[in-house]
Amino acid sequence: MKTLSIIGSTGSIGTQLLNIVRERKEEFKVIALSARNSKDLLLEQIIEFNPKYVFIENPEAQKEISSKFPEIELLKSTEEIAQIENIDIFFSAIVGIAGLKANLEALKNAKRVAIANKETLVVAGHLVEELCQKYNSELIPVDSEHVAIHQCLKTNSENKDLSDSIKEILLTSSGGPFRTKDIEELKYVKLKDALKHPTWTMGRKITIDSSTLMNKALEVIEAHVLFKIPYEKIQVVIHPQSIIHSAVSFTDGNIICQMGANNMEIPIQYALDFPERRKLATEDKFSIFDHKLDFYKPDLEKFSLLKLGYEVGKLANSYPCAFNAANEAAVELFLNKEIEWLDISKHIHQVVENHILIKNPSLEELLSIDKDIKKSISSRLKIS
Ligand code: NDP
Repeated sequence: MKTLSIIGSTGSIGTQLLNIVRERKEEFKVIALSARNSKDLLLEQIIEFNPKYVFIENPEAQKEISSKFPEIELLKSTEEIAQIENIDIFFSAIVGIAGLKANLEALKNAKRVAIANKETLVVAGHLVEELCQKYNSELIPVDSEHVAIHQCLKTNSENKDLSDSIKEILLTSSGGPFRTKDIEELKYVKLKDALKHPTWTMGRKITIDSSTLMNKALEVIEAHVLFKIPYEKIQVVIHPQSIIHSAVSFTDGNIICQMGANNMEIPIQYALDFPERRKLATEDKFSIFDHKLDFYKPDLEKFSLLKLGYEVGKLANSYPCAFNAANEAAVELFLNKEIEWLDISKHIHQVVENHILIKNPSLEELLSIDKDIKKSISSRLKIS
């Protein structure tokens, strides 16, 4: 039986992960669960999966859980979950920089870290790399594009690293809900429209990130960190059907792609089982005859955050942290209807333009940059 700790168990990724575990209870023992506020769902998960440790940020929920389940050890943070030693799989399904400290801790203690939380890889790629080397940690992606690339790179019989023979990574993107809108129409985008993703059902923050193509910008940096591919070799491809989840083009003329249904349970299960493959418990209705495949170049004028993502990634050091912090703050304001959709990108551009580079930032420096930028954005609100 494999032991499993989950941070962010009540979110979109967390609940899909538990759908898989529910069908394979004889294979996985859930050791820890965590959430921020979703008390009722967390209570249901506790009853069903009987974890030994739980963390919830909300103080009222903490009291209720400890009185209802005195046998459970209520931890004080997600980092404490990550400090549990020798867990087989630590699954990071939390959203935003809130996952950073725990993910770094998990790289020291867990046998495998399955990471959906792309913000950690973006903000602290250099720290993640350092820890992976020092602790020989196994880090495995969950994001569907990166799971696709992971598979495309493992196509030789000896599982050797093929990075020298890579011509380019073809990182696919649906293009989001506003792919076909012109720049003028983007002024009138409403929250409900931005929350309608054309091909995936996901949490609110990543859905907004997908509408601005910030999600793809984060994924470009994520791909660079995970696979050590130079930015010049990462090409974003707009593929509205989201059937090909990404591809790798090799110097010998072969292009290998991974395709399948738009079902996050597929990459989630891959992150649990790699290098093995198990039957998917939910029915896989995918048929190749139902799909046409289209590919376009991204419009970097209309979706300037994607272009900025490459620039920020190349500047590295503290720039990706500033880029991410500005986005987290602006998206939250947009979700609360305090700013317009176009203001998200204006805030991010402004933060990046004014950012003063800190070389090779420490964890403390990253957290302080994040805090300062979020504070400055919420005090500024609308930008003219
Ligand atoms: P959700 O918003 O649906 O879920 C986030 C989870 O994190 C919830 O369990 C939430 O708890 C918890 N959480 C948030 N903040 C805190 C905190 N401060 N302390 C403790 N727990 C916290 O997000 P998603 O599942 O959509 O995304 C999770 C990550 O996976 C993101 O980084 C995203 O980019 C990535 N990802 C998501 C995909 C998807 O299909 N959803 C696809 C690929 C990547 P609560 O419920 O109480 O708020």
